[in-house]
Amino acid sequence: MPLTIDYLINETQGEEHSLPCIKCTGKTTHKVLTSVDVRGNESDDDYLFSWSTDNQIIQCLGCKTISFRKASSNSEDYGYDENGYYDVDQKLYPSRIDGIKGIGNETRYLPSKVRQIYKETLMALSNQAPVLAGIGLRALLETVCKEKNAKGHNLLKKIDNLISIGVLTSANAAILHKIRTLGNVAAHKVKPHSDTQLSLAMDIVEHLLKNIYILPKQVESEFEVESEFEDDV
Ligand SMILES: [Zn+2]
Repeated sequence: MPLTIDYLINETQGEEHSLPCIKCTGKTTHKVLTSVDVRGNESDDDYLFSWSTDNQIIQCLGCKTISFRKASSNSEDYGYDENGYYDVDQKLYPSRIDGIKGIGNETRYLPSKVRQIYKETLMALSNQAPVLAGIGLRALLETVCKEKNAKGHNLLKKIDNLISIGVLTSANAAILHKIRTLGNVAAHKVKPHSDTQLSLAMDIVEHLLKNIYILPKQVESEFEVESEFEDDV
């Protein structure tokens, strides 16, 4: 069975793809700056199997960030429209999901345990690991409750206690209860949640982290000088 493999340099250079960006919001046009494109064929008298893998260094045309795209397809996996098409398996590095950007450098304001679980949850979410992401979101809530010394024998009671001690508003607590049950299902029934549910839940948890930890620290450092002046007045 003759086998041929070709390594083509810049065969797909200049291509443009609409992809989620690491920094920009939503999908943006990414241009292939340079590529190594592998083309393989395997055949005998009545059989032909071919595959291709494009390894591309890509650049977002909005923020100019450079990343990597690997697109693989083969002659066994194809779909039908009027022209027929190959299914393309696409992987992006660093991995990313449209709409999830994380809180970036502001994680430095988080207590170390909260920061660690937040980063791992974000990683699970960006790497299409929805069961782990659901468990991570619940673990984040548990850790915030512990860090704030919330009282109660279960997470439900602890979240409610955060209202009594003035950390949460009751409107925010109602939303967190939804995330709590979401994490429950992931942990106990090993049932993944949809990307939309998880990214919405992450959004809410990030707002919570900003309100509890990040904004107070930023306000403290920004208004430090002014409060010194106040003493003089
Ligand atoms: Zn961008």
